[in-house]
Amino acid sequence: MRKVALTVSLIGLWLAGCSTTPPRVAPPPAITKTATVKAVQGPFQPDANLYLCPSSTVTNAFEADPNNRILNFNPIVLVDGKVVLTPVPMNNACMTSGFGKRSGRVHKGLDVKARPGSQIYSAAPGIIREADYSTGFGNYIVIDHGQGIFTRYAHMSGFSPGIHQGMSIGFGQPLGLIGQSGNATGIHLHFEVLTGNYNTPKRSFGLTARDPLSFPPYAGAG
Ligand SMILES: [Zn+2]
Repeated sequence: MRKVALTVSLIGLWLAGCSTTPPRVAPPPAITKTATVKAVQGPFQPDANLYLCPSSTVTNAFEADPNNRILNFNPIVLVDGKVVLTPVPMNNACMTSGFGKRSGRVHKGLDVKARPGSQIYSAAPGIIREADYSTGFGNYIVIDHGQGIFTRYAHMSGFSPGIHQGMSIGFGQPLGLIGQSGNATGIHLHFEVLTGNYNTPKRSFGLTARDPLSFPPYAGAG
């Protein structure tokens, strides 16, 4: 009898070990309070940590510990003292490329990889300004978070039902799935944080790209 109980508890331990999900953080209320639009918050909770992808091809990588965990990573950041957002709007994603010079050009975003079919979420509340296709970005979305701060999500396989230009969207709402549309060498999300004046003929293409991992942590996050 005791032997059976021991076996059962060992199986329980094994199951517990297999079902652990990475630690996540609850988005702070301020992520909605700082928004200029009222929209329902979605189910997404950002991962507490970001890891470099386990390959030798990570470019513009941030400093990481021996387990590839990026040091001083902040899952909830404050952009220019104005807008609270998450710099990695997906779960279980790893970094393949960072912001900065790459192959003689400036890589204007953060690239993360996740399993095909993985969901991409809105990084902060806002209004969808562009839900479109371009040869470079493929299927992409641009969200206006107010106060001159925007995010772009590129290379998506497609958009979630109901997603369209002009709609309000809350933090953590599904936008669509990760993909390889446009000019992409593999399945990944190219994520940009953009600032500036949107009301020019170039629209999002006239904005200034900022390093998504460069912003300070939001002090009220936890
Ligand atoms: Zn990219």
